[in-house]
Amino acid sequence: MSVFSTCPHCADTAPTRRSVITGLAAAAVVPAAAAPAAAASSDVDERFMRIAIAEARRADYPFGAVIVRDGKSLASGRNLGRTTDDPTAHGEMVAIRRALARHGSKALKDATIYTSGEPCAMCMGAILWCGFGRMVFAASVEQLATRINQIMISSADLAAKAPYAPISITGGVLADEAMKLFGPPR
Ligand SMILES: [Zn+2]
Repeated sequence: MSVFSTCPHCADTAPTRRSVITGLAAAAVVPAAAAPAAAASSDVDERFMRIAIAEARRADYPFGAVIVRDGKSLASGRNLGRTTDDPTAHGEMVAIRRALARHGSKALKDATIYTSGEPCAMCMGAILWCGFGRMVFAASVEQLATRINQIMISSADLAAKAPYAPISITGGVLADEAMKLFGPPR
């Protein structure tokens, strides 16, 4: 598959494209070739994103996530907002809490989190506090906002405000599949 560099906004009109953004220079779009970790692993990215999307398919609201380290899943999670009557039970938060309980915080440092929807401000804050090295999302906040309420700030904008926690962000991986879990535009 070809990998293009673009911004999350452009990804709305070109869903097969991907953005590769570093936390330290979120405003600058880095060509995929300049980010080997992101560019070299598209098949792996799609494999784990399919797991996140499978979680989303079973979720209260269609969001799922999986945390990966050294090619292995540490934990997965899906939105449990209704089941647990907990508005903070987003897929990423559930996966992070499970990974922490099983493996401790050191295991999350420099790990990768795959999520079917670009993380909200709460989840991206948690991702940065945990020191993840990479975050890969499918549908962008802007895409999701056509179907469900969103806090309108991008993960890259949040990451840019936390220079102590550099993170590589890749967006748009299987975005169409993630969006199919929602109904038609509202
Ligand atoms: Zn969230």
